[in-house]
Amino acid sequence: MSNASLIPVRKDFVFDQTCHACPRKLTSNVAVILQDELGQDFPYGPVCAKNALDHEGQRLLKQIPDFTKAAPGQENEPGAGRGSTDTRYGGSSGLGNTDRQFRRAVTYLLLRQRKLAHIPAANYKRFSAYADIFDQTNSLPEDSIAHLINVERKSGGTKFGFDSLQAVYGYDCCINRTFLSLPAEKQDWLKDVQTSLRKRLYLTEAQAKGVENWFKYIPGHQPLSPKGFQWAWKQK
Ligand SMILES: [Zn+2]
Repeated sequence: MSNASLIPVRKDFVFDQTCHACPRKLTSNVAVILQDELGQDFPYGPVCAKNALDHEGQRLLKQIPDFTKAAPGQENEPGAGRGSTDTRYGGSSGLGNTDRQFRRAVTYLLLRQRKLAHIPAANYKRFSAYADIFDQTNSLPEDSIAHLINVERKSGGTKFGFDSLQAVYGYDCCINRTFLSLPAEKQDWLKDVQTSLRKRLYLTEAQAKGVENWFKYIPGHQPLSPKGFQWAWKQK
C-alpha cells in the first residue's frame, strides 16, 4: 500500500529493529529510512520501502544518501562524474549522472557534517552552511554540489575520501552496538580503538581484525569491509 505522506530520507544501519511495514526483523542491519509527515523516521526493508511509497517517493528513493557502503554486498556505486557507464548494479541503473552526483554530494556532505558530527576530525567548516541549506530545503544549489564533488574527488585515497568516511561511520556505529552486548569490564580495548578511530579516521589492519572478532558478539553480527582504510595501510 503506497502512502503519499511518506518520503524516503536515507539508507542507514539499524540494529535490533523490525521493518515498519511487516513484522520481519531487519537482519541485514541495513534499512531504508522513511519519514512521515510529522518528521518521524521509520526503518523499512528495501522491498517494503518501495511498496510503501507512491510514484514520486519511488523516484526520490534513487536519490537518498546511503551511509551503509562499508557493509559488504551493498550496491556498488561508480565514482561521481567519472563517465562510468557501468549499469551492472541494479540500484544505480536508470539513475542519471545528475542524480548520482547529487546523491554522492549529499551523502558526502551529511557524512562529514551530520553522521560524523561527533567526530571533529571529520567535519569541514566550509560545508556547514551547505548542511543547513540541505536540512531546510532538502536540496542544494548547483555550485554547492560542484564544490562538494570537487572536494570529495580530491580527497580520494585520504582520510577524507568517500570510502574512508563510510568506513569510519560503519565501524563507529558497529562498535557502539557491540558495547551494548559487552560487559563493562570487557570494553577497554574496544574503547581505545574507537578513540583512536575518531582521532585518526582509520583503523590499522590489526585493529580492524581485532574489531571484527568483537563484532561477532553482536546478535546478528554485522560484517564490515575495512577497505575504506586501505589508503592508510598502503602508507606504511
Ligand atoms: Zn518489511
